[in-house]
Amino acid sequence: MSVVLQRAGAVLRIDVGAVVANWRLLGAAAGGTSCAAVVKADAYGLGAVPVCSALEAAGCSAFFVAHLDEGLHLRRHLRAGSRIGILNGTPPGTERDFVDASLTPVVNTMGELAAWRAHAGAMGRRLPVILQLDTGMSRLGLSPVDVEVLAADPALLHGLSVELVMSHLACADEPSHPANHAQRERFEALRALLPPAPASLANSSGIFLGGDFRCDLVRAGAALYGVNPTPGAANPMRPVVTLSARVLQTRDVDPGRGIGYGHRSIAPRRLRLATLALGYADGWPRNADTFAVFRGQRMPFAGRVSMDSLVVDATDCANPPLEGDMVELIGPEQTVDDVAHAAGTIGYEILTRLGTRFDRIYLDAPPGSGTR
Ligand SMILES: *Cc1c(COP(=O)(O)O)cnc(C)c1O
Repeated sequence: MSVVLQRAGAVLRIDVGAVVANWRLLGAAAGGTSCAAVVKADAYGLGAVPVCSALEAAGCSAFFVAHLDEGLHLRRHLRAGSRIGILNGTPPGTERDFVDASLTPVVNTMGELAAWRAHAGAMGRRLPVILQLDTGMSRLGLSPVDVEVLAADPALLHGLSVELVMSHLACADEPSHPANHAQRERFEALRALLPPAPASLANSSGIFLGGDFRCDLVRAGAALYGVNPTPGAANPMRPVVTLSARVLQTRDVDPGRGIGYGHRSIAPRRLRLATLALGYADGWPRNADTFAVFRGQRMPFAGRVSMDSLVVDATDCANPPLEGDMVELIGPEQTVDDVAHAAGTIGYEILTRLGTRFDRIYLDAPPGSGTR
């Protein structure tokens, strides 16, 4: 074991090979429709550079991030031929940065469209654009009225080549929700008003809604990272992350002793406790009161999660962990989705919050992708 790992409080293992396997699986689930990787928020907290490098080596050539700066960072690591779309559009005055780094803006407003068109005119160059349509999520994108205005005046797209027309589903993780088909129908009706261009509607969960939702490109995020895109049914994805934390100290306490802040737990009998080097400052939700695992034995949390540590109850372990042992918090026995459920949130939020203090080990990452 390396010196670094001997010192680490907590270790996050990220199986980049599993991300690639998930990307292939999603492409197959999408019936061969090409699958773009959504790598915003540093690939949902897992590291955009190693994730994108591995996906690119496997043949993925379309990526989406939320912010311009995320795109600028990624561009330095990806091939010139890989396309990077910026979901949140063009902040005023940044058009030049998009062109210099060959980033494609997802245009969400008529104002952005005008600025991008003016920039193309000023440069005397045709510029790529992705148009996002609001088909019922009420978050981002051109309204149906905007689309009618565009349809009536082709000059509004002058100097631009529409690479993709896209929209985003609000309820894709609920397959029977009527909004899914309503959004799909509105998307088709609005697309028909615009010049022909490839289309994209589905996120991870949308891929599993059936062939009508796949269009020419699907945009997968969470499922790439092992989050279940089909809540309520078995998870078809391979797990990607394992999180383990070091035992800092063990102790035996007598019945009646309070444990942790606020003495939220009181020992009901003599207990064997182990304190782990992981807390809410590492992104573990303070309200996710679950368990840790040591050699197949589950140890429930005892007392409140602190900033840098938490306490587990190892009393019932035949083979309890000793100081210095690593115990597992996310892994085969407790998935990202399980932790999310315990915290009353979704796997997306657990992943994107996982902290910056961990030691990270990338399994199967391509050489030179910024991993140790
Ligand atoms: C985040 C995002 C995605 C990816 O969604 P997942 O549910 O993580 O697959 C796709 N499209 C848009 C517009 C997004 O914002």
